[in-house]
Amino acid sequence: MRTAEVIVVGGGPAGSAAAKRLKDGGAEVLVLDREVFPRMKLCAGWVTPQVLSDLEFKVEEYPHRFLSFRRLHWHMKGLHLPLPCVQHSIRRYEFDAWLLERSGAEVIQHAVKTIQRDGESYVIDGEYRCRYLVGAAGTSCPVYRTLFRDAMPRVRALQTVTLELEFPFEWSDPDCHLWFFEHGLPGYSWYVPKARGWLNVGVGGMAQRLKHRNEDIWLHWNHLAEKLSRQFGIQLPEEPTGYSYFVRGPVAGARVANAFVTGDAAGLATRDLCEGIGPAIRSGQRAADTILSGAAYEIQNVTGASLGGGLLSHWIDWAFTRRAGLVAVPT
Ligand SMILES: Cc1cc2nc3c(=O)[nH]c(=O)nc-3n(C[C@H](O)[C@H](O)[C@H](O)COP(=O)(O)OP(=O)(O)OC[C@H]3O[C@@H](n4cnc5c(N)ncnc54)[C@H](O)[C@@H]3O)c2cc1C
Repeated sequence: MRTAEVIVVGGGPAGSAAAKRLKDGGAEVLVLDREVFPRMKLCAGWVTPQVLSDLEFKVEEYPHRFLSFRRLHWHMKGLHLPLPCVQHSIRRYEFDAWLLERSGAEVIQHAVKTIQRDGESYVIDGEYRCRYLVGAAGTSCPVYRTLFRDAMPRVRALQTVTLELEFPFEWSDPDCHLWFFEHGLPGYSWYVPKARGWLNVGVGGMAQRLKHRNEDIWLHWNHLAEKLSRQFGIQLPEEPTGYSYFVRGPVAGARVANAFVTGDAAGLATRDLCEGIGPAIRSGQRAADTILSGAAYEIQNVTGASLGGGLLSHWIDWAFTRRAGLVAVPT
């Protein structure tokens, strides 16, 4: 049996952030991921200045595609607001592999299935043993499923459903576009260009509200495809792929004994823009800090709002979820 002080299940942004902090702090850490990196990850790849600062990221050291937007175009209820901004895009295929390698942690390809408590240890699939366990394997994280589901049940009203496509495309508009609530969508669609001729387009909405409207996310994908063709002359090369994740609900219970959940495994994406990379990184770093120092696992104050938590954040959150019995967006 292979033994490590800490095992991190999942090598996405949450897992690699935890692994790097742990390695830098002198812990013995092993990352298990079911995929070999670089691996495909559905995501628009929009990253904020806060993400770069949390990662101590230096653009000049990053060897892959990195684009900064001069403007973010908000389209909402017939309004078009071209807002000056400093926001960025990366390709997750490149970014996640780079982050994981940069962590310096040993990574083993292994799809985790079972987790058992054995005294002070956790045993994974009868093959790996650790004292501390970090769950960072996204929505279907086996650490969440085995150890956290009862203490931290998922809130159906906070589940998103998405469709997305990323492909080589010589775009001429270098800005990011977001279209909110079009055709009654409880969510938004996007156009996110990437450096050196790549483009990401997609649509996401709240699953339960779509169901209540008797609608399918594909209906909204078709509206987006039609708009992209009409406004940008884009003919989509293939069908999109889908993924579902949870935006921020209650997080008390994200630590059980020496096990932690982080990122999408804990449902931490923001309630106003469904931004998940930043909260994943912060929660991974905080889990690592707790393991290294013994301090409390403070994820209550990882923000649940991308837009600062003011009136606009609350209004978008309300428009997405109708707040059916939910607590307000944590800021
Ligand atoms: C279509 C779409 C667009 C998005 N756009 C943005 C955006 O532009 N900006 C933003 O900030 N957020 C965005 N998000 C959200 C963001 O992608 C996630 O919140 C973020 O990836 C969460 O990171 P994570 O590390 O928690 O999980 P993930 O990035 O999902 O990483 C989990 C890792 O765990 C591994 N894994 C899964 N199961 C197992 C297992 N059983 N055993 C071992 N390993 C396992 C997976 O292979 C994966 O590598 C988007 C999401 C979607 C679906």
